[in-house]
Amino acid sequence: MQLANSPIEQKQLLGLDVFIKRDDLLHPAFGGNKARKFSALLEMDFSDVDTLIGYGSAQANSLFTMASLAQLKGCQLEFYVDRISQWLKNNPNGNYRAALELGARIIEVGELDDREGLSVAEYIAQKVLPYKQGALFVPEGGRCHLAASGVEQLALELAEWQLAQSKDKVRVVLPSGTGTTALFLSRYFFSQQLDIRVLTVPAVGGEDYLRLQFNELEPDSSLHPDIVELGRKYHFGKLYPEFITLWLQACACGVEFELLYDPVGLMALQQAFTAEPDATWIYIHQGGVLGNETMLPRYRRKFPGLFVG
Ligand SMILES: *Cc1c(COP(=O)(O)O)cnc(C)c1O
Repeated sequence: MQLANSPIEQKQLLGLDVFIKRDDLLHPAFGGNKARKFSALLEMDFSDVDTLIGYGSAQANSLFTMASLAQLKGCQLEFYVDRISQWLKNNPNGNYRAALELGARIIEVGELDDREGLSVAEYIAQKVLPYKQGALFVPEGGRCHLAASGVEQLALELAEWQLAQSKDKVRVVLPSGTGTTALFLSRYFFSQQLDIRVLTVPAVGGEDYLRLQFNELEPDSSLHPDIVELGRKYHFGKLYPEFITLWLQACACGVEFELLYDPVGLMALQQAFTAEPDATWIYIHQGGVLGNETMLPRYRRKFPGLFVG
């Protein structure tokens, strides 16, 4: 299983001379950002664990990655979601379909009688975990210190590349959800006093939410990544014509990007690159292209005129 040491490729991406860290090329069942963050779990001893418990959206990359992990470890995944849309139930696709095929139990908390107004996280804490022996709970999207070792391995690969290529002024761009990956990368490069800076952009929530997340994980703000401000707010999971247009242009470099995080990530790359064109730019492709199976049909239905050929 290829779980680390993804290649770094030089590309003309959106007319920019950049390098792409291809974490999308890690193992197909255990790849991308979530595989990095869950790598410590993969190494953990599961002999006392029979159920892996997680939660998030029914389309989440973490759902598929946790389903793969459970299968590899020989335990059951229980993944709690608020609700599953009727459309998805009728047309299982993407991460949802793949997780079901791997034997995941996807539990719709909105359908349960004993929910009593609890959030999904509260429901798990109060109604599931106290009654389950042998359960291992993973917070949403892997936002926990458990993720640090896997992300530091990614940081090490970038640092070794910088050394081997003798590049100074390396700038790493990646889009953020919880900000865990960007924060742990940035903290590593500062702690090693390397000439590598991390720039990120919120794909979920705004800049204030992202700063809050950074502070929760690391109070010393001098170690935080820079946040690129795009000047307008996009809602996570919503369809924007400029996203699909940019995505189509970006994929022309021969790499398939994903459609939830990468559009804002690529916008941030364009903006940051233009402000500092003499630096060496690396964009981290964090995988998640299985979700395109869900997103592309939605885009085709909503903006048919933007797809030519
Ligand atoms: C989870 C995920 C992210 C966000 O990672 P964070 O560490 O939560 O910021 C970005 N891109 C992809 C493809 C992901 O699966």
